[in-house]
Amino acid sequence: MSSLSLPVATLGVPRIGARRELKSALEGYWSGKIDAPQLLATAAGLRASHWARQQALGVTVIPSNDFSLYDHVLDTSVMVGAIPEIYGWAGGKVSLATYFAMARGSQGPTGEADHAAACGCGAPGHGLPALEMTKWFDTNYHYMVPEFERGQEFALASTKPLDEFLEAKALGIVTRPVLLGPVTYLKLGKAKDGSFDPLTLLPDLVPVYIDILRRLAANGAEWVQLDEPCLVLDLDEATRLALRNCYQTLARALPDLKIMLASYFGALGNNLDTAFGMPVAGLHVDLVRAPDQLDRVLAKAPRGLVLSLGVIDGRNVWRADLPALLDRLEPVVARRGTDHIEIAASCSLLHVPVDLDLETGLDPDLKGWLAFAAQKMGELATLGQALAGGRQSVSDALSAAAEASARRRSSAKIHDPAVAARLAVVTPAMASRAHAFAERQKLQHDHFGLPSFPTTTIGSFPQTEEVRKARSAHAKGTLSDSAYDAFLRKETEAAIRWQEDIGIDVLVHGEFERNDMVQYFGEQLSGYAFTRHGWVQSYGSRYVRPPVIFGDVSRPRPMTVGWSSYAQSLTDRPMKGMLTGPVTMLQWSFVRDDLARDQVCRQIALAIRDEVVDLEQAGIGIIQIDEPAIREGLPLRRGEWKAYLAWAVECFRLSAAGVADRTQIHTHMCYAEFNDIIDAIGAMDADVISIETSRSRMELLDAFVGYRYPNEIGPGVYDIHSPRIPAVAEMTELLDKARQHLAPGQIWVNPDCGLKTRKWDEVRPALENMVAAARQARL
Ligand code: GLN
Ligand code: ZN
Repeated sequence: MSSLSLPVATLGVPRIGARRELKSALEGYWSGKIDAPQLLATAAGLRASHWARQQALGVTVIPSNDFSLYDHVLDTSVMVGAIPEIYGWAGGKVSLATYFAMARGSQGPTGEADHAAACGCGAPGHGLPALEMTKWFDTNYHYMVPEFERGQEFALASTKPLDEFLEAKALGIVTRPVLLGPVTYLKLGKAKDGSFDPLTLLPDLVPVYIDILRRLAANGAEWVQLDEPCLVLDLDEATRLALRNCYQTLARALPDLKIMLASYFGALGNNLDTAFGMPVAGLHVDLVRAPDQLDRVLAKAPRGLVLSLGVIDGRNVWRADLPALLDRLEPVVARRGTDHIEIAASCSLLHVPVDLDLETGLDPDLKGWLAFAAQKMGELATLGQALAGGRQSVSDALSAAAEASARRRSSAKIHDPAVAARLAVVTPAMASRAHAFAERQKLQHDHFGLPSFPTTTIGSFPQTEEVRKARSAHAKGTLSDSAYDAFLRKETEAAIRWQEDIGIDVLVHGEFERNDMVQYFGEQLSGYAFTRHGWVQSYGSRYVRPPVIFGDVSRPRPMTVGWSSYAQSLTDRPMKGMLTGPVTMLQWSFVRDDLARDQVCRQIALAIRDEVVDLEQAGIGIIQIDEPAIREGLPLRRGEWKAYLAWAVECFRLSAAGVADRTQIHTHMCYAEFNDIIDAIGAMDADVISIETSRSRMELLDAFVGYRYPNEIGPGVYDIHSPRIPAVAEMTELLDKARQHLAPGQIWVNPDCGLKTRKWDEVRPALENMVAAARQARL
């Protein structure tokens, strides 16, 4: 590795290990198979290997404290001692038991997290709830929401950033520690009773940061990275002021420590002046999500400031066209000089899989177009060397990248003229049903003759041990196609008979044949690929393996018609066809970066439309198109919402509107704050929407009521996230609440979501009760 390089930084790397070592260790620890020292040793081993890997691949600015056993926001809460009272922490070192109780709740007495002592209810084994969890900006990573009390006090309760800095130092690597910045940290949290703005706690919080930063500086840290991704959000003046005050205080207290202030996930936009007004030594900007901000950034950046240019995509899996990047970067370096530029990933590499080299089964062409975290480190190093030592110093790597890009651009695997031709003739009429809802409703009522308060479920039934075993045996080849098929048929038939027995009105086949609601469809669509080891952290020890949309999407053949028509053939009741919607198919995948997202989504919409039409042809009169991810696709900036919602709604409608008025289109969304997007939900014009409302005791319906939502709604009456079996009276009460606001003819009766994670012993009585509650409502 040539030593001539501009500084290059990852900002953070995946924690999970190439073989998901962290997951195994955590689960081993939680189940008692390994002890704390073993867990901590695995964690230290992972950190050491991450540092060594980055060093070997030519990363020169190596982060520490980017590792976490569970979540870096939780780590920050623990560091500053923001530990809610119920966890019974009495000061001093925070134990693993307390840490994991905050992360995932605790089942019962575990050391200081002993609930009986802490909550005072005295019930041993009653358990403690986890902190709330929510999405980290617009990623699929979830963090533990900090919870603050009135008069919240902070104290340095963990020196993790220092410990890990010293750990790396002992291995001969001087790292740049990463900490979540104080302002973003507070903004991500919430006041326990909602009665005050967490930002008001800033003056009390900053001293704790000063404390830890001083210790880092005293132990040899020259730089630290403070992440303030809130800089890419719409900020009010109070937050901007808080940022300025915070960083002025830090600068005064730590005049010699250099702070790299990191913004990512979007453009600084109208926060640009705020960002450049801060007394920091460096600023990181995301030039992948917001390439256009480069000129403004360059125009504003003070001379002595180190600019960290985030040019390697930390959110997606595509190999970079390095010569093209150099074309943009070389003039910048010429202008600012090599001293004040750093080359970086756009954001932490946490959001991409670990190592492409592990993928032995991928199509070699596709593999040549991809880069996971390890490959991105190599790309960063190549850029750093090219900018310091000239392109010829890394000419092989550059030409390989250029060739891969050229091959990708012209590959027939990506460009399907038939898909393009079809998209070109999409008309607005194709996204509209023939008649308005009121007319469709009459036809559908006459046709299906359903009772009022019709009952249905969201699609999946328990994915039992047996079902999963059969699937994996089939995947391994130890269970033949025909035996697997027979098994699935048997499961499906049993589910149908049981639904008939208990009196469900609109049946589902149970989705036993599906591994996952996106993967199942992606595997049958052209343009989608799947990895074997491409895991990324979703939360804690839960990882997902998003599919890769690499090319034009189309549906070579029907995907669900076989199962749905088999199921319908077994019963006289209406069988609901079950599909995943285009926005969700897009949102839960790595999406190609050579075509606008809305275009990719339209392609998927047409593929789903084909399936909807085929289901109708096969005699399926009710079709549900699930769109749980519509809300999470909302851009971070409000100004961009309208455009997103317009194409998201259009895509849903395009997928749904190919059928006759008599065919009833359902959609389903999980928990969401609907107020902001209710117009869009109305515009989707599904005949029936089912939503999650039981936990909020129908409060989530308010948005629909305020909007006078005219179509039919199934507000969930059964909280499927809990093993609890709801009593008839509870569900009746919820239905009564719904009836206060909605017309009786509008209301469907269903659980909050699919039942795949539940056990039959829970599902059976719960749904029997649900049917009883619907019958009472009809009286
Ligand atoms: N039809 C899917 C199921 O029942 C819907 C899942 C979801 O909304 N996340 O599992
Ligand atoms: Zn759901």
